[in-house]
Amino acid sequence: MGTKLPLPPWLEHAGLVKKKMKDRGFKMADRVQACESCGEYAEETWSLKGGGQGMGGRDVCACMNCGRARSWKGQGAMRAVEDPFDLMGFLGITGTG
Ligand SMILES: [Zn+2]
Repeated sequence: MGTKLPLPPWLEHAGLVKKKMKDRGFKMADRVQACESCGEYAEETWSLKGGGQGMGGRDVCACMNCGRARSWKGQGAMRAVEDPFDLMGFLGITGTG
């Protein structure tokens, strides 16, 4: 029993999120930045290099405090932002079961 509060999915699955990002070839940047949404130094940046098959890279910023996530696809002028970005859906993590 106990009174443990349910965690938001990005925290409850923080380990899984990192594992899945690595599985997809993302590399986490060394530094953590301040989140524009909650102000905490909890925003991690992940980068995926382009695969050389016409695939552009992808960058993902995700705050491990409030869960705000953004993603950029492609490079240069073709760069397209997704904000907000459905990180859980992107990684196939569903529910809090
Ligand atoms: Zn935040």
